[in-house]
Amino acid sequence: MRISDTLAARLKEFGVELRPSVPLSEKTSLGIGGTTDQLLLRKSETIPDVMHLLANENIPHRFLGGGTNVLIADDELPYVVLHLPTSQPGMRVEGNAAYVDAAADLGGMVTFCAKRDLGGMEGLIGVPGSVGGALRMNAGAYGTQIGSYVREVELYRASTGKLEILRGDDIRFDYRHTSFAVEDVMLRVKLELPSKPFKEILALIKVCNEKRRASQPLNQKSAGCIFKNPPGGSAGRMIDELGLKGHRVGDAMVSDRHANFFVNVANASCADMLRLIDEVRERVRVSYGVELDNEVIFWKN
Ligand SMILES: Cc1cc2nc3c(=O)[nH]c(=O)nc-3n(C[C@H](O)[C@H](O)[C@H](O)COP(=O)(O)OP(=O)(O)OC[C@H]3O[C@@H](n4cnc5c(N)ncnc54)[C@H](O)[C@@H]3O)c2cc1C
Repeated sequence: MRISDTLAARLKEFGVELRPSVPLSEKTSLGIGGTTDQLLLRKSETIPDVMHLLANENIPHRFLGGGTNVLIADDELPYVVLHLPTSQPGMRVEGNAAYVDAAADLGGMVTFCAKRDLGGMEGLIGVPGSVGGALRMNAGAYGTQIGSYVREVELYRASTGKLEILRGDDIRFDYRHTSFAVEDVMLRVKLELPSKPFKEILALIKVCNEKRRASQPLNQKSAGCIFKNPPGGSAGRMIDELGLKGHRVGDAMVSDRHANFFVNVANASCADMLRLIDEVRERVRVSYGVELDNEVIFWKN
């Protein structure tokens, strides 16, 4: 989708930088995605005005964080993509509280807090992407989930059209699902973290990194787990038991290291990846009677 020069000029007054015709395949860890205009929201205080303007002009939009959990359709996209600037996001610690901008890198936040003797989030060290994406997804690994530490989230709230602060208790954090509305934009978070000596945190971080390196295709293009685990089960184990590791549709392939990671081995299209997802889901349904839900978020055309 293209933003007209007139609209671009009005958006500029709100501190929005237009980046025209961005190939989203370059912005996602899967290396898949069509082209559209990107709007960089440089002033968080003007976001309500920006949203109002986009609504008035009938411009559909989606918010992209680090792009590590999205599968985006091919070709020209019928929506623009909003993004927060990632250079120098704010992070500070006061006692056991950490205040972090949503644009910050999640792993960077874990190490920043660790160096100040605040732990608890060691399991999240290898989860790529932004703090905002982690909040939306309630990112978790090795027994840790970000939601457990959230005390406040500052956000643009679509239901009121205003910037607000939500208390952690008022947000539901479930398995890879939260109660934020689709159009909410997370801007900042306050976390409360347990005190722990840096050395201890570092030792746990090393263990988690080793586990990841041993089991995940970290040098290939992926979006992490494609499916959520069904209650009490493991999507990866079922896919593995069906002998589907290495199964391909075009350049989309079930990883031969981790059966719930689907990788783009060269130039996979979104259509290839979707067919692979559907084929695997169907095989699991027929063999196990289990309907797998996507963990990866699919943005249609
Ligand atoms: C190699 C690899 C390993 C992974 N391992 C794990 C793991 O162990 N555990 C795990 O939970 N995930 C894992 N993931 C998935 C992914 O890293 C997480 O879901 C991550 O938190 C997504 O963050 P992101 O910034 O990349 O979000 P994106 O992919 O950009 O977006 C995901 C969703 O969040 C929304 N979003 C992003 N930022 C904001 C914001 N500021 N405001 C509002 N909405 C926003 C987007 O609109 C979209 O709906 C892995 C991915 C990869 C590639």
